[in-house]
Amino acid sequence: MSQKPVLRFAPSPTGMLHIGGARTALFNWLYARHTGGTFLLRIEDTDRERSTPEAVDAILNGMTWMGLDWDGEVTYQFARAPRHREVAEKLLAEGKAYRCYATAEELTAMREEQKAAGKPMRYDGRWRDRQAGSAEEGKPSVVRLKARQTGETIVHDVVLGDVRFENSQLDDMVLLRSDGTPTYMLAVVVDDADIGVTHVIRGADHLNNAARQLQLIEAMGAAIPTYGHLPLINGPDGAKLSKRHGALAVEAYRDMGYLPETMRNYLLRLGWSHGDDEIIPTAQAIEWFNFESIGKSAARMDYKKLDNLNGHYIRETADATMVAEVTAFLAREKRTLSMTARQRLETAMPSLKERAKTLVELIAGAEFLFTDGPRTLDAAADKLLPPEARAALAAALPALEATDWTGPALEAAARAHTEAAGVKLGQVAQPLRAALTGKASSPPLFEMLALLGREESLIRLRAYAG
Ligand code: GLU
Repeated sequence: MSQKPVLRFAPSPTGMLHIGGARTALFNWLYARHTGGTFLLRIEDTDRERSTPEAVDAILNGMTWMGLDWDGEVTYQFARAPRHREVAEKLLAEGKAYRCYATAEELTAMREEQKAAGKPMRYDGRWRDRQAGSAEEGKPSVVRLKARQTGETIVHDVVLGDVRFENSQLDDMVLLRSDGTPTYMLAVVVDDADIGVTHVIRGADHLNNAARQLQLIEAMGAAIPTYGHLPLINGPDGAKLSKRHGALAVEAYRDMGYLPETMRNYLLRLGWSHGDDEIIPTAQAIEWFNFESIGKSAARMDYKKLDNLNGHYIRETADATMVAEVTAFLAREKRTLSMTARQRLETAMPSLKERAKTLVELIAGAEFLFTDGPRTLDAAADKLLPPEARAALAAALPALEATDWTGPALEAAARAHTEAAGVKLGQVAQPLRAALTGKASSPPLFEMLALLGREESLIRLRAYAG
């Protein structure tokens, strides 16, 4: 029986969960869910100076919001340092690693000589075949891997194909620092080997590490995972994605009002394709996902596409779910909705969904449902209510008051009134809308009048009738 795939996402908690990291997590998650394998989350917190609890929270929250659930407990790399040391000691004992006593000054001098001679700067292996003598006793040392010096190391990459590295270009990397702490290169390989990771899918910035890590895996006698290095994500202008391009953190997309389903679809398409399909809901993505269709070249952010996709998912999402999304969004801003507001929101949701590309837009368009009483007009609504419009509003009120308070009846009454008065429907409807919602555009006016009810509507309309 062949083994089920084991994948992992291994972020370093030195900042937020950024969009590239989220895509890496998504691709690992999709493959695990596609194959019925396992998706693990490992926090690589070995850099004690730069790792923060806030960043850990941001990563966990970001993953949770994105709907990327991991299997089992989160593991923390730093806690496994004794195990990493144990592996280094074993390699030492087996002669696959060695102690290097070169001082910082000696290494600086070595690099300067190499630089002056126009040679690449790398560790020259000065302690590789040398035994420590009495002079070295008690002196600090690092542990280095005795890497192969000839031939080549080939990374068989499911995205990039075979990538070859001359072993002469790779120096003997440090596994344990002089204070005994493991390096990232050691920790990542030991952790992956210990949990039986079968597929290492990560950003292309780790491709060079893969060659060195392979040598370490071989020295340990561990199984070689399948590698996949994902091309970078660029800004809309094709340059490396940076703060200048706007949002980098997943949280920022949440706060701009994008839905998690939108983000999953968008990030999937950013570097993976299925013919010309743009709309790929997550369930479909799980069914289709494969490594073969990951693009080889850098992907470009396209915010317009993101907006369109979000509009699509807003319309597709069930009304009750959208109410829950809005409620959660408002809760993050420490706002709560009354029961009445929630009911109004739910009733108006089919119309609100049609008009919004983001939750922020949807909420802005729904504010008039959340509280009672006369509206404060925004600039556009204010323009719709000059004195003559207020007079037209006042003149229309008796006709509305006299009718049943339902959408069709109110519309019929408004039409009959405008026909009799010889004015266009818009001349009455626009001031009505402005007074009712405080805005120049809204979901269908007569539906909204019915939704708010006779009493509440008349309070709002009378405030601007005159
Ligand atoms: N901790 C590394 C990072 O955040 C990822 C290491 C890996 O995936 O192998 O870039």
